[in-house]
Amino acid sequence: MHVLLIFVDGVGLGADDPAVNPLAAADTPTLDSLAGGRRWTASTGWQTTDRAEFIPTDAVLGVAGRPQSGTNQATILTGINVPAQLGYHFGPKPDAPTRALLEETNLFKTLIEAGRSADLINAYPPRLHHDINRGKTLRSSIQHAAWAAGLPMHTAEDLLSGGAMSEEWTGKAWREMLGYPDAPIFTPHEAGRRMVELSRGYEFAFFSHWYTDILGHRGPFEDAVRLWETIDGVMRGALEAWDDDEGLMVITSDHGNFEDLSHGKHTENLVPTVVVGAQKAAFADGLTDLSHITPKILRALGMLGL
Ligand SMILES: [Zn+2]
Repeated sequence: MHVLLIFVDGVGLGADDPAVNPLAAADTPTLDSLAGGRRWTASTGWQTTDRAEFIPTDAVLGVAGRPQSGTNQATILTGINVPAQLGYHFGPKPDAPTRALLEETNLFKTLIEAGRSADLINAYPPRLHHDINRGKTLRSSIQHAAWAAGLPMHTAEDLLSGGAMSEEWTGKAWREMLGYPDAPIFTPHEAGRRMVELSRGYEFAFFSHWYTDILGHRGPFEDAVRLWETIDGVMRGALEAWDDDEGLMVITSDHGNFEDLSHGKHTENLVPTVVVGAQKAAFADGLTDLSHITPKILRALGMLGL
């Protein structure tokens, strides 16, 4: 039994409007199949299919204002409603109180301290390692959670040896933008298979994708449509490789943004949580907001009573 959590930053469920919502405009047969043959929008609603539960999930968490990555990624990884506890949404990087909560408890840490295996399976470029080590930038809440558990933040060497993956899956960004002509390159379909294979080395594997949030802030729309179609290809490979009896594959996001390119801000829309695996119904039961993800994963891994 293992869990692969695929985190896609800043993707909410928006209008059925192909002029502003890339999810309503893109051609995504695989993603649609996970939502009863429908595109992922606000009108989709909860869907149960043979393979998946599609669960519209609250990311506002009862706190006024637009949800942000710092506090909401922390909510996903602690099981605590962090915005409610602090009284505000904060991001994109976590502030000191959010970091303190992550250092106290988080999913990676709970698992590692119990002798279980967990990993943040992304590779990060030397520049980011350098800036973090020099105090020039903060870790994201996701990176901070892994760090607080004593996990390594993977490097370019891990990418080259196949021990970690590019956040955009295919490796193109490492070749074309980060100066690694030898970086392994995958089609989206191959990358999806590879992500599943990598996840099998851990009881809990977290894959973090953030470019959706970048395009949600600044577009252009055509790139956003293309990215969502790439993600469809990744999920086609992932679903082919995934055996429903091996555990749970979960997709979720921290807040809306990418689904409404009529402006460059986050939204208060519900976000999609999708769960694939034989135990999907138990995972989905009662899941209504982002604070439920961690307890559901701990239960699935036998770490909490039913
Ligand atoms: Zn953002």
